[in-house]
Amino acid sequence: MKDAVIIGAGFAGAVTARVLAEHGKSVLLIEKRNHIGGNAYDWLDDNGVMRHEYGPHIFHTNSSRAVEFLSRFTGWYDYEHRVLGYVQGRLVPIPFNFRSIDMLFEKEKAEHLKSVLTEAYGEDHKVPILELRKNKDPEIRELAEYIFEHVFKYYTMKQWGYTAEEIDPAVTGRVPVITGYEDRYFQDSFQKMPDQGYTAMFEKMLDHENIEIALNTEAMDRLSVDPEKKEVWLDGSLYQGIVVYTGLVDQLLNYRCGDLPYRSLEFTVRTEKGRFQPVTTVNYPTRADMHPYTRITEYKNMQKNPPKEKTTIAVEYPFAYDRNGKNGRVPYYPVFTDESREKYQAYVDLLAGIDNVYLLGRLAQYRYYNMDAITEAALAFCDQLLENR
Ligand SMILES: Cc1cc2nc3c(=O)[nH]c(=O)nc-3n(C[C@H](O)[C@H](O)[C@H](O)COP(=O)(O)OP(=O)(O)OC[C@H]3O[C@@H](n4cnc5c(N)ncnc54)[C@H](O)[C@@H]3O)c2cc1C
Repeated sequence: MKDAVIIGAGFAGAVTARVLAEHGKSVLLIEKRNHIGGNAYDWLDDNGVMRHEYGPHIFHTNSSRAVEFLSRFTGWYDYEHRVLGYVQGRLVPIPFNFRSIDMLFEKEKAEHLKSVLTEAYGEDHKVPILELRKNKDPEIRELAEYIFEHVFKYYTMKQWGYTAEEIDPAVTGRVPVITGYEDRYFQDSFQKMPDQGYTAMFEKMLDHENIEIALNTEAMDRLSVDPEKKEVWLDGSLYQGIVVYTGLVDQLLNYRCGDLPYRSLEFTVRTEKGRFQPVTTVNYPTRADMHPYTRITEYKNMQKNPPKEKTTIAVEYPFAYDRNGKNGRVPYYPVFTDESREKYQAYVDLLAGIDNVYLLGRLAQYRYYNMDAITEAALAFCDQLLENR
């Protein structure tokens, strides 16, 4: 019997597997897909493009602990992400900043708007759009309504199926308005990509004699949890080792409190000649009847040695997650409402008292994690676990 069973070979599961293995624990890592890496999985396609199967993943962080750990398994190359948005027929920088103002307004008006914003918030300040819309100055409010209409309103509706006012303000707050010319999408001190890709990094991380990987394996075919008896069963026997679960918590408990809502995505991938667009990602914050998709990603624009002749692009369409549906079968983002938070808590309560089951990662904890944040969280989780066991 293994000391630990980990479900899911994404960042949460792989980082945990490696640390436990290095502390002498034997680990069985169960993954239902045919590959490791979770949603960060990438691969070199026929065009020579490093494709990110589940959407573009850009590594950026201020966490020296995450960088130090991951650097044991990969080198890095510099990459700073920049995004353009299709606004009134032009491609303007997103986050919306002074350059976007320069491109969309005539010179005199643009100069005036920039000085009003600087006076109100100072230079290079990041202002959430919902805050900007509440400003007392009618001129700032008018600009805020313009930005809201052209950058946030339809994008949010397409992405989430809700209006910006209906969803958690943290969601729109993630892409602020910037009172300066900073046009990088992220401002973290470390912005680099793994030099051979994410999958290669995971391969090294999981290459350890104490780790056994079972791909193409649905965990629920081997593992079950009985919340009444407070028991965990693995391959037909009572299991008292460590279980780190990074999958969907509603699935773990057989959906007995109902399905947790997620937003899903579908990607239409195609080959084009040469270069398709000026940056890796172009957002389409337009009405759905104009562009039914939210963004287009050209992967080679963030690649170290991109091919010249051909390019691969992915057009991204959001859907409601439906585990039995035709589209939207992959759960990507939790949809936070009071009801979904309560439902999640009901699942967590059911697991209380089962001392060997731990929930970790974006699915099991029903929260949004960036890659650096889940790396840090997994390392902190291991610190605690190893202290107690
Ligand atoms: C479209 C998109 C873009 C993103 N871009 C960025 C970015 O640019 N930068 C950034 O830092 N972060 C980004 N992220 C976040 C990043 O994907 C997460 O931080 C990371 O995937 C979290 O790792 P995880 O291990 O928690 O989850 P996952 O990567 O989802 O791993 C969970 C794994 O568990 C497996 N699994 C689930 N249930 C079972 C089961 N029952 N049996 C067996 N296996 C199971 C899954 O197949 C999966 O492989 C993005 C996320 C999305 C959705």
